[in-house]
Amino acid sequence: MSTKVSQPSNPESWHPETQLVHGGTLRSQFGETSEALFLTQGFVYDDSAQAEARFKGEDDGYQYSRFGNPTVSMFEERMRLFEGADAARAVATGMAAVTASLISFLKAGDHVVAARAMFGSCRYVIDELCPRYGIQSTLIDGRDLDAWKDAIQDNTKAFFFETPANPTLDLVDIAAVSKIAKERDIKVIVDNVFATPMLQKPLQHGADIVVYSATKHIDGQGRCLGGIVLADSKFVTDYLQDYIRQSGPSISPFNAWVMLKGLETLPVRVKAQCESAAKIADYLAGKAVVKKVIYCGRPDHPQADLVRKQMKGGGQVLAVEIDGGKDEAFRFQNALRIIRISNNLGDVKSLVTHPATTTHSKVKPAARAELGISDGLVRLSVGLEAVEDLKADLDVALAAVR
Ligand SMILES: *Cc1c(COP(=O)(O)O)cnc(C)c1O
Repeated sequence: MSTKVSQPSNPESWHPETQLVHGGTLRSQFGETSEALFLTQGFVYDDSAQAEARFKGEDDGYQYSRFGNPTVSMFEERMRLFEGADAARAVATGMAAVTASLISFLKAGDHVVAARAMFGSCRYVIDELCPRYGIQSTLIDGRDLDAWKDAIQDNTKAFFFETPANPTLDLVDIAAVSKIAKERDIKVIVDNVFATPMLQKPLQHGADIVVYSATKHIDGQGRCLGGIVLADSKFVTDYLQDYIRQSGPSISPFNAWVMLKGLETLPVRVKAQCESAAKIADYLAGKAVVKKVIYCGRPDHPQADLVRKQMKGGGQVLAVEIDGGKDEAFRFQNALRIIRISNNLGDVKSLVTHPATTTHSKVKPAARAELGISDGLVRLSVGLEAVEDLKADLDVALAAVR
């Protein structure tokens, strides 16, 4: 498969904004401005010998879109440059990326340790799916460095965590946990969705593998599902590549194309959304019916020092605890008119969700309490609307709580 990319110069030296507009471009013979969408299942060969050579790996052209596709390659290369990784492989969804990062290299008899504050489906993969195939798992409080050390067994092969975590915005110290892992040859996998690749680069802090749901900020406009795994070349060659080729969680070229175009505007979108989120966090923090605002960009975030150490900004998601319980949270959400109720995030449209009854409804009440997900907690993903309009919308909703 060809991942050769025609570049005017050394794209590694470009600033991120330039990499996100030009990185990975594979211009066809027609010289198109916008990246071409190669919506094709397969590729034809000039003759039988060429087909033979491609299957032998002696000719690096494309064969079949489950193995590779030029539009998908462009998305992978653009992300690879931006993340500063050796290699990248795109897949159909964020969950396909999480699953591939684990299942492609773990085997029966191995053990994985994960921070328990994480996306519900990630918890299913680690806590239910892996054990069914003989991969043991232990869930811990990821904020506690001793808990990582104490959970290590002779067969521990991977650490998995999300930072900041959904929806409570707990952080894991990437550098400290990676240091613990390095001593035991354990791979560190970070789900970097909440921080976005704009605000946090886990590989620079010592992590081995980064996964994204591209569905979130990378598309950012609520259209397509997608995911991507970034790692060193050895991991990709030894494990990931064959797993994706042969088991087939491949991304559609169409979705990869949407993601590729999404990357072009990622910096401006995320910057504007983070600025608005910071204003809204401060605005909500002063309100009577708001018990607590958790936002990574505020000095009262419980791990504010760690935010400064490993993140370049506060992000665009905040957790707001409405004074009361489910009824109060529902009244708040139901009164919103611009901000819509949805379990998605990272979108240009502001979205609100009540984790206890949606994204985390399958987590048992005691485990929810342990995670800090109270019945009054709502998660707010701030979009690109005018802040004044969002504040006015929130004002009406706060008034409806009582
Ligand atoms: C959304 C999300 C996922 C899953 O992504 P999909 O594209 O919906 O499969 C995984 N991890 C985190 C942190 C997410 O927010």
